[in-house]
Amino acid sequence: MSAQQLDDLWQGRAACRGPNTLIFFPPSHFERKDDREARETKAKSICGSCPVRRDCLDYALRIREPHGIWGGLNETERRVLLDA
Ligand code: SF4
Repeated sequence: MSAQQLDDLWQGRAACRGPNTLIFFPPSHFERKDDREARETKAKSICGSCPVRRDCLDYALRIREPHGIWGGLNETERRVLLDA
């Protein structure tokens, strides 16, 4: 099984599939700090009960995903892990 097929498997079980997807990424317009924090808190709460959280985080770290909430962490939090 290829790495792409493995990625497709966990993504099919993601808790963020559907209408909530938008809150995982910053909007295209300016976002105030408190709005960003509220959005990220909502997204992270969904990640908290996601059955594929570890796969998601591993994937985001592997491809060095620069945007959004993945595996319960935002881009700054993931960068800290990568730099450790
Ligand atoms: S951990 Fe969060 S971002 Fe990753 S698939 Fe699950 S709900 Fe989506």
